[in-house]
Amino acid sequence: MNYAILATMSDKPDIDSGNDLLWQVVVDRDAAYDGKLFYAVVTTGIYCRPSCSSRRPKRDNTTYFFDQATAENEGYRACKKCHPQRADAEAIYPAELVAACKIFENELEGDISIPSVAARVGVSDRTLRNLFDRCLGVSPKRYLDAVRQALFRRALKRGEAVTDAVYEAGYGAASRAYEMSESMLGMTPARYAGGGKGETIYFTVREVSFGFIIAAGTQSGLCCVRLGAKCSSLTKELKAEFPLATLVEDQEPVLTWATALVDYINQQRAWPILPVDIAATAFQAKVWAALRAIPAGMTASYSEIAEKIGKPKAVRAVATACASNPVALAVPCHRVLPKAGGIGEYRWGSQRKQKLLQLEKD
Ligand SMILES: [Zn+2]
Repeated sequence: MNYAILATMSDKPDIDSGNDLLWQVVVDRDAAYDGKLFYAVVTTGIYCRPSCSSRRPKRDNTTYFFDQATAENEGYRACKKCHPQRADAEAIYPAELVAACKIFENELEGDISIPSVAARVGVSDRTLRNLFDRCLGVSPKRYLDAVRQALFRRALKRGEAVTDAVYEAGYGAASRAYEMSESMLGMTPARYAGGGKGETIYFTVREVSFGFIIAAGTQSGLCCVRLGAKCSSLTKELKAEFPLATLVEDQEPVLTWATALVDYINQQRAWPILPVDIAATAFQAKVWAALRAIPAGMTASYSEIAEKIGKPKAVRAVATACASNPVALAVPCHRVLPKAGGIGEYRWGSQRKQKLLQLEKD
């Protein structure tokens, strides 16, 4: 990996065809940039990931994007060879999970047995179920059902062959369709009750336009994301919350998740769906799942959330559950506003809430 290019990328380089560094990534077919950089060919209207096996385009016809959503918004279509729309998800989720999802999507019409899929991706049946549960909050079977439904509906609507629709949609679109479902949270038993005893928690602190962000998580997902004005106090707060855990700084898997959040804040990528590993009561779990279903750029009121979870009178309890969200951004509690108007409360400061909502509107 060429770190010079990565460093430049975080400074948002020019994306016109004259950029030597970006062109080099394309020439090298550098897979390290899959999910981080997309190139598009103006003459064909198709966009690809850097590692695509297709013939390199003429440099003059090449343009670049840092996220898939922008490429789509500008009217480019995803390449059917390299499926660039899957690259985001592949960068975030464990490889075995992505591989299993691909099998589901490519073999929808057959009779799929979960144990045989587990064997094909090289994990035990139990491990595969755990991966789905932790990262997507559902069993493999329910995920498969959701993909089937989403893709078939889409195919029928457009009058396309199902297999075409499967390829068109790809992993990213399928997971986004599923994002709208209620159960996206990877809940685990309340095992942090003992101050994180026996757990290893990975963390990293990054500077963003409105201060600092600390992201911390286990191997399974984020367990703590906070915003603040000082790097040192964020680290102190993390230690206070998990006094018995072993804290490890600047190591995967948290680096990838933190980068996804920071890139989002810097408007260099679309909203990331990140795995979370948080303990919750059944009520909190419902509220947080409902928050994850609010798309970026949209907001909801506390009473709308209360209605959505089937407890229309529990408006105050919903507000409390929002305020106790342990993972800022990953569970977007900033998208809930008071019905009466105004910006409302935010655990990490209403000015930051305002800024987040503003950048999501843009
Ligand atoms: Zn391609």
